Amino acid sequence: MKCTPGIELRDLEEMNINIDPIQAGGRLTADAMKAVIAYGDGYSVCDNCRKPFRLDYIEKPPIATFHDDLAAFVGMDEARVVPGARRGFQAVTGTYVQKGDPVLLTALSHYTEFVAIENAGGVPQEIPKDDLNIIRADAAAERIEEVSRTFGRPPALLFIDHVDYQFGNCHEVREIARAAHRYDIPVLLNGAYTVGTMPVDGKDLGVDFVVGSGHKSMAAPAPSGVLATTAERAGEVFRTTQARGDLTGRTFGIKEVEMMGCTLMGATLMGMMASFPHVRERVNRWDEELANGRIVVDALRSVEGTVVRSEMPRRHTLTRVDATASFDRVAGRHKKRGFFLSSALKKRGIVGVIPGATKVWKFNTYGLSRAQAEYVAAAYVEIAEENGLSVAPPDERA
Ligand SMILES: *Cc1c(COP(=O)(O)O)cnc(C)c1O
Repeated sequence: MKCTPGIELRDLEEMNINIDPIQAGGRLTADAMKAVIAYGDGYSVCDNCRKPFRLDYIEKPPIATFHDDLAAFVGMDEARVVPGARRGFQAVTGTYVQKGDPVLLTALSHYTEFVAIENAGGVPQEIPKDDLNIIRADAAAERIEEVSRTFGRPPALLFIDHVDYQFGNCHEVREIARAAHRYDIPVLLNGAYTVGTMPVDGKDLGVDFVVGSGHKSMAAPAPSGVLATTAERAGEVFRTTQARGDLTGRTFGIKEVEMMGCTLMGATLMGMMASFPHVRERVNRWDEELANGRIVVDALRSVEGTVVRSEMPRRHTLTRVDATASFDRVAGRHKKRGFFLSSALKKRGIVGVIPGATKVWKFNTYGLSRAQAEYVAAAYVEIAEENGLSVAPPDERA
């Protein structure tokens, strides 16, 4: 079966267990799939757009209500949908960062944060991580002081990843926000890996902006995401256009500058909306997700020489593993080299690992059932044993 002669059907999710770190939280719900088909046409959500002609005012379908629900969902006052978390970052840097301004992010920040800063002409300055790969408030405070001395002014903005993409670790968000606010630095929480998978409350964390990714963590099509903020900051980041045609005198109502007027106009928004009731429910089952993740983590740790590089115990389903002293040793003597592992997994219907990677890799168990998690765990143990690695419960080893 094919979509067109040149486009293959994609049935990866239907036919396999996918543990790809970036794909786990973005798999569509069945409701989203229906909405995507119904609203696939270009400006399909605009059928009933009436004055004042802005996406977030549309009542049919209930886009206006969805915006209120989204803000509440992340514990903030106002929200807009954006084409990906990165566009949320860009709206904030576009508002607060002037050419040459220092902007703080971290040693674990995603490249899109760097690019958003660069796009506004800012100068990225990293907060270092500690030995356990955690971003601490004291490191943030020190860096604020140091950067302020160097630039003669405090950073214009601070990015903090709620859970980072490298280790899936949790950081001292609340304490870092408090430190930044002592210098009146606005704080952006990057919730690309948390909004839509686990409970997130921006006000409780004390941040000014919460950014989430629809296609990473909210079971939505790409590119989609959310930018939410406080009533205090909304007038700044969601300021309306002042532009006027110099010949025609035209003005453009309440279109928002950073949103380029309107953002998600069809399948992206409707897919996100259709998944939202499920997403709102699923964050309450985060404990089950963590338990499933730990099943796989424990299995990997039972393979002699395998080390989990992420913080322990795991507080997220994205985990980084170092198998230099286990699976990578097998790679050295196996006829398939490093590909033995991905190929043995694939044979068992497990995909989403980088082919050939045996030293350090990441996986994400988000969305797996208990039975699937147990199956993945057993697969790793089986592959280890088949290849002569010894297996013992991690706590029975010195
Ligand atoms: C995936 C990711 C992003 C980018 O999200 P988009 O929605 O694709 O723009 C940003 N930050 C982190 C930490 C990520 O993991």
